[in-house]
Amino acid sequence: MSNIIITGCSSGIGFATAVMLAKNKNVVFATMRHPLQHTELQDIADNKNLPIIILPLDVTDDNSIKNAISQILFYTDKIDVLVNNAGIGTLGSVEELSIEDFIEQMDTNFIGTVRCTKAVLPHMRHKKSGCIINISSVGGRLFNYFNAPYSASKAAVEAFSECLAMEVLPFGIRVAVVEPGVIDTPLQDKCKSQIKETGYPNLQRCVAFFSAARDHHIPPDVVAETILKIVNGESTRFRNPTGPDSLPFLSFRASMSDEDWIAGADIDEETWIAMMEGMHLDVRKYLTRF
Ligand code: NAP
Repeated sequence: MSNIIITGCSSGIGFATAVMLAKNKNVVFATMRHPLQHTELQDIADNKNLPIIILPLDVTDDNSIKNAISQILFYTDKIDVLVNNAGIGTLGSVEELSIEDFIEQMDTNFIGTVRCTKAVLPHMRHKKSGCIINISSVGGRLFNYFNAPYSASKAAVEAFSECLAMEVLPFGIRVAVVEPGVIDTPLQDKCKSQIKETGYPNLQRCVAFFSAARDHHIPPDVVAETILKIVNGESTRFRNPTGPDSLPFLSFRASMSDEDWIAGADIDEETWIAMMEGMHLDVRKYLTRF
């Protein structure tokens, strides 16, 4: 049994992970920005008698993190695992997104991970044990057009995690990254709402790609299972690609040169559609013009 903190538990992967880890006899401190607006997890915890304690935590707010960790250390004298899951997605061209879009993305996905990690490290180092699991993405290793803020934030999480893993190894602390492919969660709905008009017609391909990939309906439980395996010690890998499309996407990217990958952004529409169909992605119906 481990005491586990998870960020971003109001929906999607964080929500599913909180339930799965609690069902597997762990005590879960499930944190979210606005617990009063998201009562579903509390209802499940009550109905199924699961050891889930819900606390407010905004990963962009130092005081909020400090308060949450203080409360957790009031409940328990040991934090075994931190899952840095909270994240946002931003789609758009570099030219048309604002600097604020980039800052918000980095502040949430990357600096949020750094903040929460720093908040638990003194405790874990003192106890000489602990595990930090950072939710990255295939997008942290495969860089695609109109994903610059998101991919940059996840690439930063990857680099940070690898450096951290080496720093904390002598103190019995383990670091792992989870790299989901496209998972069916509300993340994309929140992304799409930001796209209004664009001078970049190929942005439609990016939106169509994610919509078609989401049609495979890979549930967030798939990611929760990977996290459970890391917590149980069943997976001892540092990088954990997760979901049926994760490794194929990474292999596809690794099969070509950087130059060929970049040149692929300018192929004609029918060739692109055929290439997507080769990956079982029915993009045609989502190619709406902006
Ligand atoms: P989601 O359902 O939108 O969940 C994101 C969670 O992060 C929500 O609980 C959201 O809370 C929370 N969050 C956002 N900003 C926050 C902040 N400042 N402080 C605390 N919590 C905050 O999406 P998801 O797909 O489960 O995403 C979870 C993680 O998986 C993210 O890091 C994402 O990048 C990663 N991921 C997702 C996919 C995918 O295809 N879905 C693929 C690869 C990686 P609110 O309800 O308050 O907004």
